[in-house]
Amino acid sequence: MLIKLIILILMAAFFLFEVYKHLLSARQRKLSLPRNVRDIYDDQKYQTWSAYSTETNRVDLTERGVQFALTFLLLLFNVHARLSGILPQGMWANSILLVVADMLIAVPIGVYFAWVQQMRVEEKYGFNRSTKKTFITDQIKQVIIGLVLMTSILCLYILFYEMLGLWGFILLFAALAVIITLITTFSMQLSKLFNKYEPLPEGELRSRLEALFEKHGYTLRHIYVMDASKRTSKVNAYCTGLGKNKEISLYDNLVANYTPDEITAVFAHELAHFHFRDTMMLNLANMLTFLPMIALLLVMSVVPAFCQAFGFTGMHYGMVYILMGHLMQAVLIPVRAPVMAHMRACEYRADAFAVQNGYGEALVSALKRLCKDNLADLNPHPLIVTLEHSHPTLSQRIAAVSALMAEK
Ligand SMILES: [Zn+2]
Repeated sequence: MLIKLIILILMAAFFLFEVYKHLLSARQRKLSLPRNVRDIYDDQKYQTWSAYSTETNRVDLTERGVQFALTFLLLLFNVHARLSGILPQGMWANSILLVVADMLIAVPIGVYFAWVQQMRVEEKYGFNRSTKKTFITDQIKQVIIGLVLMTSILCLYILFYEMLGLWGFILLFAALAVIITLITTFSMQLSKLFNKYEPLPEGELRSRLEALFEKHGYTLRHIYVMDASKRTSKVNAYCTGLGKNKEISLYDNLVANYTPDEITAVFAHELAHFHFRDTMMLNLANMLTFLPMIALLLVMSVVPAFCQAFGFTGMHYGMVYILMGHLMQAVLIPVRAPVMAHMRACEYRADAFAVQNGYGEALVSALKRLCKDNLADLNPHPLIVTLEHSHPTLSQRIAAVSALMAEK
């Protein structure tokens, strides 16, 4: 009983912390903005931003509340053990079906709130370009990818632990490292399931981008324009590829509305991430987050009391895996904070690289426009930045870039 109590209290504490963060953000929105970002939104736009983030936060918090209540009740009333009793009894089938059932129970809630966010909130503020059909096919693809990924990891866990006992966890860690590397390497191919990619036509932008990459010894294999405007009016761009061969993808919204100078400034920043091997370090940091996951699986596999606390007669692979999933978010908070601090340091260095390449002013101008077009939070609460933000705030970045340009 004690184990059950501790797990439920931990989950409740995590949820209350989420509520607390939402309250902090709500209070932060009432404060005046830092001086160097006041020119980004005029009064009317700032009101729009404030209303947009209030609504987005409300949807997010409501969804978390509903998901939390559901999970809490399922665990409190040992529903998983009852469900496991009805499902086919083989070890493999029972574990896999229990995990799939646990995921599917939450799917309607996730889809409903994604719908509210995309089709009501984003729609209301003019971001949404997604049709009902695109939205539904996206959701179905996401659920299938999620199910395949989660059940594959579950199968590896069962297989390795059955074969090798405790040593199996080292193999599991290695397998997860390979999976995450494959996903990041082939993220473009994955994204092609959702979007169309066209090559960027010849012209000023193309030659500038090529010149920038060649100057630092990289070759651009492909420059793609992605049809993001089918779903959103927001803008983004990214750079992928191993070694010296790079691929660039630009949202069509970016190509249509930003100057070649601004776009090249953004890519000078992205190139710096490769140049300083930030991307590789990020992959390593992501792998570190698997350690608490492995530790949770290990402890709960060895101590059957964890599953017994929720109505099972002994250790049950599916239940261990489900509990791990629910505990991960809380366990990850202290693991993520130092990773985020490192990532913010990388962002400053990448901005500095753009300044050194002569794109300081264009970068500031691009960052301001990106923030404005994405209705970004100009003044997030410092605690939330410390714990969760991979990027410094816009105000911090502009201050750093301005300081570097003043030095020159
Ligand atoms: Zn960056």
